[in-house]
Amino acid sequence: MLTSIVGINWGDEGKGRMVDLLSKDFDIVCRYQGGNNAGHTVINERGKFVLNLLPSGILRENVVCVMGPGMVIDIKHLVGEMARLREAGIVITPENLKISDRAVITMPYNVQQDCLEEERLADKKFGSTKRGIAPVYADKYLKKAFRMGELLNMELLKKRVPDIVDWKNLTIEKAYGAEAVKAEDMIAYFEEYGTPLKDYIIDVGLYLNEANKAGKKIMFEAQLGALRDIDFGIYPYTSSSNTIAAYAPIGAGVPNLKLDRVIGIMKAYSSCVGEGPFTTEYFGEKAEKLRAAGGEYGAATGRPRRVGPFDVVASKYGIRCQGADEIALTKLDILSGHDELEICTAYELNGKKLTEFPFTDVLDQCKPVFEKIKGWNCDISKCRKKEDLPKEALDYIHFIERACECKIRYVSVGAERDAYIEM
Ligand code: GDP
Ligand code: MG
Repeated sequence: MLTSIVGINWGDEGKGRMVDLLSKDFDIVCRYQGGNNAGHTVINERGKFVLNLLPSGILRENVVCVMGPGMVIDIKHLVGEMARLREAGIVITPENLKISDRAVITMPYNVQQDCLEEERLADKKFGSTKRGIAPVYADKYLKKAFRMGELLNMELLKKRVPDIVDWKNLTIEKAYGAEAVKAEDMIAYFEEYGTPLKDYIIDVGLYLNEANKAGKKIMFEAQLGALRDIDFGIYPYTSSSNTIAAYAPIGAGVPNLKLDRVIGIMKAYSSCVGEGPFTTEYFGEKAEKLRAAGGEYGAATGRPRRVGPFDVVASKYGIRCQGADEIALTKLDILSGHDELEICTAYELNGKKLTEFPFTDVLDQCKPVFEKIKGWNCDISKCRKKEDLPKEALDYIHFIERACECKIRYVSVGAERDAYIEM
């Protein structure tokens, strides 16, 4: 049984939190794209964790975690993340963590390149997380990247380093005028941070196929959301990988397998990190209030997130791109304490009403059309059953369900593992 857990919006919908909750019924959790630009927050009885590279299933003892070939892995960051979790008492061994030999290694010069480019762009910057993600995916497609499996044959790997470093210096040194990358530094880097990972590197496709044959339940954990997908998101303000569920079997190393179920994680309001069009954005006091209530500061970067009310147009598109069978609506508790809530049900473009998400170019000119719905003034974070919710909160859920044409199965009302309602 293969299930994908994916973001419907711009990311930070609470995927880590839902994966942590739902993984109790799974044997394997696999990340299939992206790198350490992810920030998945999990709060459970073991503490508070922010996971960047490791799948959120790592916090469950009976779950095996897999890092798929679609990922880009900063090996220094991974070694650090594993050490941090171990300090908190989490056991990580080659038994419960498997890393794809085909996953690509994010190099220190990719991070440097990311920073140099944002600096060059100055006020035109993309709002990159500066973790080297775009440069390393570019290197992958240029066929100039290193892959995890190469760490298993260090002698051969060392031979490839000088040519790649020479090529990279055409950019780092010649184009940006920064200090040249040195081959011996990269070799030392592989030795220092690659060596501790060697025992974890396998053909994860083979492993997952066998697990699937044996009837194991496999979950794919996405990073970011549909609107950040490289092909279907708000390009160029997207991530550099495919965040959509359809990519999960590919990015996990099992292109032969089909998904049985897609659970979309959708936030009860909108938030967006970095630059790019964001139609329902609130500004000033309204934004401050929602940002503070929702604690909307990047888990990976600490940056204040842009916020706004729920966007039906963008979410409906996100649900379609993800092929979501059902939805987990998160952070509903954050909307408590308003007499009235706004929901964006259409965009206005040149006097015309749009209900389908348009091509990115015109998004900047789109104005949100809001409908108002009655709010609720009580705290709902202790509600555990549908019946516990005030009528207005239920109406809000049903309004969104109808407008987005997708069943809302879970509603989360707090960051802790058990703070949710099954509808
Ligand atoms: P992810 O990247 O999709 O995993 O989401 P993030 O972890 O970046 O952001 C979600 C934030 O909201 C985290 O700080 C979570 O602890 C928190 N969170 C998740 N679900 C809920 C919820 O239902 N209510 C509240 N109050 N916080 C939540
Ligand atoms: Mg996040």
